[in-house]
Amino acid sequence: MFIELKNIFHEYNQDQLVKALVDINLSITGSEFIGLVGHTGSGKSTLVQLLNGLIKPTRGQIIIDGIDITAEKVNLNRIRQKIGLVFQYPEHQLFEETVYEDVAFGPRNLDLNEVEVKKRVEESLALVGLEYEKIKDRSPFNLSGGQQRKVAIAGVLAMKPGVLILDEPSAGLDPRGRDQLIDLLYNLHFEYEMTIILISHRMEEIARLATRVLVLDHGKLVLDGSPQEVFSNRKKMQELGLDLPQITDILHRLRERGFDNIRTDIFTISEASREIVTELRRRD
Ligand code: ADP
Ligand code: MG
Repeated sequence: MFIELKNIFHEYNQDQLVKALVDINLSITGSEFIGLVGHTGSGKSTLVQLLNGLIKPTRGQIIIDGIDITAEKVNLNRIRQKIGLVFQYPEHQLFEETVYEDVAFGPRNLDLNEVEVKKRVEESLALVGLEYEKIKDRSPFNLSGGQQRKVAIAGVLAMKPGVLILDEPSAGLDPRGRDQLIDLLYNLHFEYEMTIILISHRMEEIARLATRVLVLDHGKLVLDGSPQEVFSNRKKMQELGLDLPQITDILHRLRERGFDNIRTDIFTISEASREIVTELRRRD
């Protein structure tokens, strides 16, 4: 899967003109796990809705596997099958009477036969960690918030997309739900080789998972690099009003307090503690 954005502009023109995206140029290849970050209103949700054809850019081209999805006559159903989008609070879009029917909705729209549909429902519920037999006949409305979110994500996975985009998927989940989600995304990418685009405010989450971080600010792509590159640019991140992973912030503070040689391109507690020990030994 290869995605290319060329000179993308997007404007909303309701009560007033809003320049949501300004001249975005970007290529995404199949092997990436993208973390998309930025302040509220920076254009993240607009960008991902453009990618699966839900909205059309005001200007510019989006090319997916050689197909210009901004062209007049393009089959958007195929694009939406290839590029699955999990909205913010996706459980708000559950609507069928049973979990089975909800997850089956997407595959049925692909004109698959019922045998294949059932297989996909079973597989995708298993992927998100729900027991098919126990949950298939339940009403999605009687499940816990965390289970509802899993069902909604299963519904997108059942389309077997090559790219999975998630817009703040951990918002409102408890710590356990967040950990399960991180495990799921990790497996989808590193085991099933799915390209993932994850929008999140939780920098720890981004640092743990992403191979590349994109930062939007007022509709512009202002940083694009490895987590190491982006999170070691503390000054820029502060200017943008964005957090660093907490542990990285601590390393920056230690450096300010005289640990001149301590590394700051670290985001996990285990690696940080090793670095602090090394630095203390160096000082002895
Ligand atoms: P983010 O997801 O980073 O918070 P959005 O893409 O939702 O950013 O919004 C970017 C800008 O576009 C904001 O100024 C927002 O108010 C505006 N915007 C988003 N959706 C709409 C819409 N449907 N109509 C009008 N303005 C919108
Ligand atoms: Mg948003």
